[in-house]
Amino acid sequence: MAELEGFEFGKSDFVLLDEVTMEQFLENLKLRFEKGRIYTFIGEVVVSMNPYRPMDIYGKENIDAYRGRELYENPPHLYAVADAAYKAMKRRAKDTCIVISGESGAGKTEASKYIMQYIAAITNPSQREEVESVKNVLLKSNCVLEAFGNAKTNRNDNSSRFGKYMDINFNFNGDPTGGHINNYLLEKSRVVQQHEGERNFHSFYQLLRGGSGDLLKSLHLNNNPSEYLYTKQGSSVTSSSDDLKCHRAVMGALKVIGFSQDEIDSIYKILATILHLGNLQFVSDGESVQLVGGDTVKHISELTSSEDESVYKTLLYRTVATGGGEVISKGHSEQEASYGRDAFAKALYERLFGWIVGRINSVIEVKNYNPALHGKNTVIGVLDIYGFEIFENNSFEQFCINYCNEKLQQLFIELILRQEQEEYHREGITWQHIDYFNNQIIVDLVEQAHKGIISILDEACLTAGKVTDTVCLESMNNKLGQHPHYTSRKLCPTDKSMEFNRHFRIRHYAGDVTYSVEGFLDKNKDPLFQDFKRLMYNSSDPVLKDMWPDGKLSITEVTKRPLTAATLFKNSIIALIDKLACKEPYYVRCIKPNEVKSPMLFDEARCRHQVAYLGLLENVRVRRAGFAYRQPYERFLQRYKMTCEYTWPNHLMGSDREAVEAIIVQHGFEEDVAYGQTKLFVRTPRSLFTLEQERAALI
Ligand code: ADP
Ligand code: MG
Repeated sequence: MAELEGFEFGKSDFVLLDEVTMEQFLENLKLRFEKGRIYTFIGEVVVSMNPYRPMDIYGKENIDAYRGRELYENPPHLYAVADAAYKAMKRRAKDTCIVISGESGAGKTEASKYIMQYIAAITNPSQREEVESVKNVLLKSNCVLEAFGNAKTNRNDNSSRFGKYMDINFNFNGDPTGGHINNYLLEKSRVVQQHEGERNFHSFYQLLRGGSGDLLKSLHLNNNPSEYLYTKQGSSVTSSSDDLKCHRAVMGALKVIGFSQDEIDSIYKILATILHLGNLQFVSDGESVQLVGGDTVKHISELTSSEDESVYKTLLYRTVATGGGEVISKGHSEQEASYGRDAFAKALYERLFGWIVGRINSVIEVKNYNPALHGKNTVIGVLDIYGFEIFENNSFEQFCINYCNEKLQQLFIELILRQEQEEYHREGITWQHIDYFNNQIIVDLVEQAHKGIISILDEACLTAGKVTDTVCLESMNNKLGQHPHYTSRKLCPTDKSMEFNRHFRIRHYAGDVTYSVEGFLDKNKDPLFQDFKRLMYNSSDPVLKDMWPDGKLSITEVTKRPLTAATLFKNSIIALIDKLACKEPYYVRCIKPNEVKSPMLFDEARCRHQVAYLGLLENVRVRRAGFAYRQPYERFLQRYKMTCEYTWPNHLMGSDREAVEAIIVQHGFEEDVAYGQTKLFVRTPRSLFTLEQERAALI
């Protein structure tokens, strides 16, 4: 718990609220926000409000103030949590992780960057060169990932459109030796389509605005994003970030990380290919489909190091195996051709992104680490991942993201409770059970084998012939209609927000979300004609070829169905949870004060909603139902000895523990505390208030 700063700034730890109610929680959050106190603890969890203005709290002075200190010695801050995670890692050789959650625009990515900067600042005091270089690559990787994985959305000008988990490895000195990045569910639909007011990924605009004349010429591009379908659909080609400056920074970062010039060239060629693809059009004369787009096909074949003829054919035809084992070429309809082109553009970008992450990993992965020689290699993981999403229209992406949040919530409950229990056990204190909502039932609803929503979706995708979204919905309604957290329209016939053959609803731990099944099957199946894969595999550009190993197979050899998008995502999230579960967790819960990016406005309804779905009240309750406050005897004594005649200025008792008992007894708090092996546990904050007030009156 933080040092009490004085109540004019509100309570620095929510466990100190008089009563755990939404009203009191919001009141405190608001007061602190208005006073410029953007961080507040719940025990060891940091609740962070996006200030929407630069804050002078991240400088060297602040870093020094938090370095090596205990959580309660300073006001709440990201640095306090970063330092706690670092200390646990260094002193106790624990693997730790910092989980940052919250909705889009709440400040997760900024928080993850401050945390990394803090860790970079406090490590390698002897400035060893190889460590500096690892740190540099780790920090620079953010710039590259943001260029390729972030975009301007209506919620956030620099919104991460992928989930990121980064492990940082440390040696026995506590200095970084390397790392590993995992990325999750890149929103690739953005490559071919943007909502009004939004942009495609930054990388495209950075290239067009920042690329030199020569570079653009060699890519057959001009510098105007309004001329490319894939960059102009949101009618918003500018952003608050300076694309030109960012382009230079990204180029610099790519070089520092160790990308070769050939690799950088290939990256830009792929971006250019995607832009050209977007400007291709298909027209049908009733019999066959033709390509319109001047030299575009030529440019694409040049940029992808392929033959004109192959590119042309791949865009207009697909190879199919007939029942008799024969292979024929079948012309696309106009619709199939544009569908295929879009799928190709999305896949190109997704694989490019995955390849960049893999390439960074190959540079930062820990090499030649010998535990016998160097001691245990410990890890701090930082997770910056999309929070719960409830939009007006919720689709497959929200379904995946919300499932991920169910998994994280479960981990949160399990770990926080487990940690508490372990501490009580260690200290020899009897643990009283707390009731909390276990969302396992919702997790099962989504992921259970054979019965869960993902299984039903996959089954529908595997069924030959045309299973529509509606048919799939019917199957879900039949199988899950009785589930307490699943609602089909049948159950609420008067509900106007749900249409009979379009919607289903899940009662998530964070609230009800109505999903529209439209496009679910297609997004789950995520098909790409094998011809495109082969085309890329046959490219003479080694970088490009490398991204398409599955293009090796011809149509008759493709027997295994690729895993569906939902199943791939599920597997990656299960692997993520496994990674997190064996680490000591630290949490940053981010809240967005308003929708208009204002530093002044506290939008109570929006905040209430976030506090609810982040489960913060439950968190405070869990923390308080046990013992809200705990401190080693010696420290407690030092702080409060002046409030008791037997302990001031020094006590004559056998141990600090007995002296602490004297303070407790003198104040009549016996009922409110328990004595552990090394620490005093205080159940409610009230006793502590009294002590603090007395102390304040005496000094
Ligand atoms: P998220 O990753 O949760 O979507 P970001 O971290 O990208 O959100 O934050 C969105 C924007 O909010 C940032 O671009 C920045 O303008 C502002 N912001 C977030 N955190 C801070 C902070 N600690 N100080 C100042 N501005 C911030
Ligand atoms: Mg982000």
